[in-house]
Order: sequence, then C-alpha cells, then structure tokens
Amino acid sequence: MYRDHNNSELNLSFITKKVTLSGWVQKIRDKGFIIWVDLRDRYGITQLVFDSERTSSALIEQARELGREFVIQVEGEVLERESKNENMSTGDIEVLVEKLTVLNSSETPPFTIEDKTDGGEDLRMKYRYLDIRRNPVKNKLIFRSKVSMAVRNYLSQQDFVEVETPYLIKSTPEGARDFVVPSRMNAGEFYALPQSPQTFKQLLMVGGLDKYFQIVKCFRDEDLRADRQPEFTQIDCEMTFVEQEDILNTFEGLTKHLLKEINGVDVQDFPRMTYDEAMKTYGNDKPDIRFGMKFGELNDVAQHKDFKVFNEAELVVGIAIPGGASYSRKEIDKLIDWVKRPQVGAKGMVYVKFNADGSLKSSVDKFYDETDLKAWAEQTQAQPGDLICVLSGEATATRAQLSALRMEMGNRLGLRKPDEFAPLWVIDFPLLEWDEDTQRYHAMHHPFTSPKVGQIPLLATDPGAVKANAYDLVLNGNEIGGGSIRIHDQKTQAMMFDYLGFTKEEAEAQFGFLMKAFTYGAPPHGGIAFGLDRLVAILGGQESIRDFIAFPKNNSGRDIMIDAPAPIDEEQLKELDLKLRS
Ligand code: ASP
Repeated sequence: MYRDHNNSELNLSFITKKVTLSGWVQKIRDKGFIIWVDLRDRYGITQLVFDSERTSSALIEQARELGREFVIQVEGEVLERESKNENMSTGDIEVLVEKLTVLNSSETPPFTIEDKTDGGEDLRMKYRYLDIRRNPVKNKLIFRSKVSMAVRNYLSQQDFVEVETPYLIKSTPEGARDFVVPSRMNAGEFYALPQSPQTFKQLLMVGGLDKYFQIVKCFRDEDLRADRQPEFTQIDCEMTFVEQEDILNTFEGLTKHLLKEINGVDVQDFPRMTYDEAMKTYGNDKPDIRFGMKFGELNDVAQHKDFKVFNEAELVVGIAIPGGASYSRKEIDKLIDWVKRPQVGAKGMVYVKFNADGSLKSSVDKFYDETDLKAWAEQTQAQPGDLICVLSGEATATRAQLSALRMEMGNRLGLRKPDEFAPLWVIDFPLLEWDEDTQRYHAMHHPFTSPKVGQIPLLATDPGAVKANAYDLVLNGNEIGGGSIRIHDQKTQAMMFDYLGFTKEEAEAQFGFLMKAFTYGAPPHGGIAFGLDRLVAILGGQESIRDFIAFPKNNSGRDIMIDAPAPIDEEQLKELDLKLRS
C-alpha cells in the first residue's frame, strides 16, 4: 500500500500513530542536525522530519539525496510540532520518518512548483503537467469538475437525458469554419468536427427523447481572438413542447442552482431585456448590469447648435463617469487617447465636467451653454462630480465605442466585482444580420432559429426588423449561453434556407436529413447551449478561461506541449489520398 492517509489529513488526533504517506518533495530545509521535507500531494502538504538524534545516519544520508519533485513514500510516526503553522490543515503535526522509499527521481523542474511561480506563460504551457501540480491551476480544474457535476445533477433531476452525439460529421456552415478530417476509407471525402451538436439534438427531439443535454466538445476554426479556444466545451441542451418562456425558466433555474451550489449566492433578480433595449442602454448585447453608467442619447439636446460634428452624426450618445469631474486635463486627454486607439476606434470625445458645485464646463463651450449641458446631464443621469463623456458618429460603431469605454471605466473604478453576480436574459434578437462582405443577410443565431409568430411576412419588406425567438444568457458582461426556439416544419425551414441564399440543391445536400426528419412528425422544440469554459471561469471569479482547461491551446491554436498541429508523413498522406501543395 502506497499510503494510508493523504497529505492533508493528519492532525493532533493522530499523535504517536504510525502512518504511511506518498507524494512529491516540495521543499527541503537542511539545518545540518535536522532536515525538514515538505511532502505534497493533491490534497495538501505534510511536514516530514529527519532528526540526527532520533533518525539513523543512513536514513539522514538518504534524505540528503532527495531533490525537488522526487516522488517518495515514507513510513513514520506522527508527532506534535514545536512551532505550529495555523495556515495548514496539518500545521500542528509532523511525521518523524522511519523509512524512506524513493519511488521516482525528478529532474530539477523548469519553474518553481509553488502558488507564486517564476515560470513564464510559455514555459508553463510546455510543462503543463508540472503547472497542474501548482494549487492555482489544480484548484481550477477541481472547480471545473465541481461545476460540471452540479450541472449534471441538476439536469438529471429535471429528467434530461445525457446523450453523446458524433464528432465525425459533415461540414455545414454555422458561422465559423469547420475543422475537417480526411476519410481514409472514402478517399477524397472529409468529415468535419462539429461546431455544435445542433442538428443532432434537434433530431433527438424528433426521436422523442424530450429533454436532452450533453457536456460536449465543439470545434470552430476561427481566427483566434484573445481567450478563445479552437476546441471548447458546451453544456448543450434541447427540450420538446416548449416555448421560449419554458426554456428561460428552466435555465434560469440551472443558473440559480449553480450560483447557490458553487458560489453560495442567492440570486433573486433575473431581469429580461430586449436586444434593442440592451443596445440602446448599454451599447452591447451582453451588458454588465452590475454597474450603471447607462447610455444617454443626446441627439435631441445636442443637434440644434452649430457644432457640425454632432449635427452630422447619426447618433450622439454619452455616459456619466462617477467622480470623473475631478480628473485633470492630462487624465482626460489620456481617456480621449484611449477611445481613439484603433481597438476602440472613436474619432474624438467631447466631455462635460459636472462640477461638485453644480456648474458645468465642457470641451465645446463655444457651442453649448449651461442650459444645454444641463439637458445632457439629465439624459446621462449625471450627478454633480461626474464627467460626461460623449461620442458621436454612425450609430452601431458609436455604441460599440462607448460600450468599450463604459466597460473600461467599470474595470478602472472597480465596479466589476468578481464576487457579485448579475445574470440576465437578452431576448428578442433580430433573426437576421446584414453581412457587408457577402452583401446579404445571414442568420444571426443559426438557420434553424424560428422567427417570432407572425413576422414571416416582414422578411419580404424589412428583413432586418424580423425578430427571432432567440435569447442569450448574460452573466457579468459575458454571454454564457445562447439558444432559440427552432423551426420544426419542413416548409418554413426550406423557406429559411432559400432566404439565406442556399439553392434547393445546396439545402438538400447539407440539410436534407433534417428537413426529411421534419416531415415525420417533428414536435415543437427549442434549446440552449452554455459555454462551459467561460461559465466556469466567471463562477471562479476570473476573466480568463485558459487555466480552467487542463490542456489549452495558445493564441495561435497550438498545443506547445505535444507540439500540435504537426506535419504527417508521406505514407499517411498517400493513404488519405492527399497531396500537399509544394
Ligand atoms: N448550437 C447553438 C450554439 O452553439 C446553441 C443553440 O442554439 O442551442 O450556439
């Protein structure tokens, strides 16, 4: 037996007991007459002691041979420590070693295996298995497992059935590019890895399973933005005989359960906001509602004077930054530079200091008097002491820029508290989205999403105005889930494909199986998918998903530990009937 206790278990109740422990050597302190070794495993650290008065010299010699990260087994007696450590569960005791077995030696690790390591990001990725030995990484993986388990428990209790859907499927357009896999047995043909199990879960509803879920890997070959992974995990769900309201209630339940179970937080408020309202009030379809700084539209109160920039703008919009009136000229200039960075893209920024004494002073005093500025303050709900920041231009871009500023200020002012949770549903998304590149409308969610009742005729007259039965679950400024009520009749689905620019043949080739299934009594159904990686990170109070993934890829989509992707050899290429362009 390698061990009878783990390294977090022993305390004063074990004094004089003989124990066997195994683990890694974390630290060695050799004082000459006494040697302490910290023994670590997943559960904690136990202090071992070798002492020249009580330990044989042979054993002491053996202890001196140890190095960091050696794997050892010891037998010994539990003793009360002289200087106790309150910060450790085993801080009251130490184990006087009587027998030491080295189970494996270790090279000197390339970085320290401690909570605060000296290892850089790349090095830690290359030696991920060593990084996982560190508490901050290990604990995140354990945390993730806890969240997954809570999800499974909740959904199983609600009668959801977990079903695995295939990973080798057919390439379909779902927004992103597919990863493709050549088929050896069908030369010249390819599978694709699923971007999501969307069509399969719908088929499970046609199959009568009623409630499905799966914690499932999905694959999207996108240009990687920061903190995106080419393979990621979804909690994928689908339900039969449901309307939007049923889905919202069920998954509001799941979210509340997770917040309670994982974070001990009772969330009462679970507001719903239409997409239009979210865009108007926060400039964003995933608003962080933990703080205010709501948008105030100023067209009415700013477009009646000679200020050309505003008069020519589609939208003039501002926010009030709490306490910002006290910013120095230099600080405000820096803020202006910030919104003018290419990543944000504003052309400039007008500001108004709403001074503590109630006076108003703006960067455009030439054009606007105090009465004007008062109206601005009212629209942006500014208080004395605030700084009103105003951007203008094309509406969509301007909203995005001001939203970026709002989030930045939320961060800078510490208003985005990681232990505060504010979920909401964003509903009534547009069905379609104009795509400049292809000069046509695309499905905003996916082509299986149903338009709201009675809105189909609008497709002919004002396609951009058609609203969908689509919803996103937003938590603390992150989209953590999204879904829709689906089209379930063959005719509407065929019409939608036609509308989205698929020829009959293309629709048949790519989605014939689904439309055929719809002719065999497909029930009304709808669903949602949560991004598990992001959800776990947010519940864990972190913004980055990477450490919640055991073996993540880097920003170029590479796994630098196993060095993938990698070329394959001639033989393999030949077998797959593939040729590389030389
Ligand atoms: N399959 C969708 C997605 O991956 C989610 C859904 O509609 O259920 O975003």
